[in-house]
Amino acid sequence: MTQEYKAAHLPHLQGVAAWNAMLPEHVSVPELDHGHSCDVAIIGAGFAGLAAARRLQQLDASLDITVLDALALGEGGVGRNSGFMIDLPHDLTSEDYAGAGSALDNVLTRLNRQAIGFAGEAVDDYGIAPHYFEPAGKINGATTAGGDQANRQYAGHLTAMKEPFEVLDAGAMQEITGSRFYTSGIYTPGTVLLQPAGYAQGMARGLMRDGARLFVNSPVLKFAKTTGSWRLTTPKGHVDAHKVILAVNGHLGSFGVQAGKLLHLFLFSSMTCRLDDAQCTRLGGQARWGITPSDPMGTTVRRIQNAESGTRIITRTGVAYCPDTRPTAVQLKRAIPVMRNKFERRFPDLAGVAMAYCWSGHVCLSYNGVSFGKPVEEGVFAACVQNGLGATRGTLTGIAAAEQALGVASEISDYFAREPPLARLPPEPFATWGVRTVLRWRQWCAGLE
Ligand SMILES: Cc1cc2nc3c(=O)[nH]c(=O)nc-3n(C[C@H](O)[C@H](O)[C@H](O)COP(=O)(O)OP(=O)(O)OC[C@H]3O[C@@H](n4cnc5c(N)ncnc54)[C@H](O)[C@@H]3O)c2cc1C
Repeated sequence: MTQEYKAAHLPHLQGVAAWNAMLPEHVSVPELDHGHSCDVAIIGAGFAGLAAARRLQQLDASLDITVLDALALGEGGVGRNSGFMIDLPHDLTSEDYAGAGSALDNVLTRLNRQAIGFAGEAVDDYGIAPHYFEPAGKINGATTAGGDQANRQYAGHLTAMKEPFEVLDAGAMQEITGSRFYTSGIYTPGTVLLQPAGYAQGMARGLMRDGARLFVNSPVLKFAKTTGSWRLTTPKGHVDAHKVILAVNGHLGSFGVQAGKLLHLFLFSSMTCRLDDAQCTRLGGQARWGITPSDPMGTTVRRIQNAESGTRIITRTGVAYCPDTRPTAVQLKRAIPVMRNKFERRFPDLAGVAMAYCWSGHVCLSYNGVSFGKPVEEGVFAACVQNGLGATRGTLTGIAAAEQALGVASEISDYFAREPPLARLPPEPFATWGVRTVLRWRQWCAGLE
């Protein structure tokens, strides 16, 4: 029987993809309105899909590559995250980000750094603006005694991994952030802070310069095996490809692949309008910094400052579990006052500052924290399930899928080929009930963090 993969759901997001909205210019990418053939078709133009396309071009410059996205470029996860391209373990289901032990975490860190190196080379090669890719490091910020304890635990883990870090006290945290709210911090130097939509637009421009064909607002409704190739069908056209890479993160499940094993979380975020000089003076602190919460269920905060976007603060907090991948406007509306509260607790001197953008975005986790960077069947490969670390993990799974598609072995492709299978979720309604209960409990425990 001919195998056919039909998209049961297409991306459905709430609010504005702020990073994309702020860009002074966008690459002009058409919608697919015709039929053509190619060697490899990539579904999804996020971190994973763009990395897969670049890796394919690196391995074989003569390949004919097509990338299709359901949304406009930069409107999906790549334009909705907080822009931390993190090198160290970042297990969101843990209490302090430590993964399954320092041996595995050392491997993951080495791979994450390869992803950051790969992205950095792309930035140079494609002439992407340096302020879209800032190797600034990040701080794990604590705001309570419990957070300080989690930070001490994390520091112990970093010591076991032989990773450099700096312990910051409340005074140092205030000097950096201008906020008196933080009680301690752990600075690690390896994270790159992205303008993620600017990075994606630059990647797309470079890929097209080197011959790839990109199409946006072109959801793949289905793909099916025909003689010798796969036909991908969009509302106005089709692509016949010898190989297909699925780089759709959680929408892997929409195509019926690994369904029943994917946790679809939607995170909420907001970004202030440009702060004026008086507000910047009241705020104090340094021009650019990024803070992840010491408790993974806490609040991420980041300050940006450059001529293009001005000075702004981004606050990410709150989570909703949406097994149907369709967050509602009401969920975002409810999250807005929570984000405001977290922002004003940290920056009481900025109370009342308007939020220019509020949005939600999709994060796909597996129960056992593994990704899906493996062949699905002959000629179909996947670079999905980034477990909340999409900037680095998405880049890695994209590289792995490209290498697997061309039969090239590397530490990256071997790692994903050998990762254990995704664990199955409990049957419904127990999965939804269980996940929502755990999230409520974990958010309550995270408290002020
Ligand atoms: C508020 C928030 C903050 C975050 N912060 C961070 C952070 O700081 N660092 C970090 O590493 N991660 C962060 N994440 C997670 C990160 O955004 C994701 O893990 C990452 O975007 C996943 O990358 P991806 O390329 O796998 O998938 P995506 O970026 O989701 O890209 C998949 C693409 O596939 C497309 N697609 C889906 N279905 C179809 C279809 N049928 N046809 C065609 N195209 C389709 C989508 O439109 C989308 O553009 C955050 C997420 C949120 C929501």
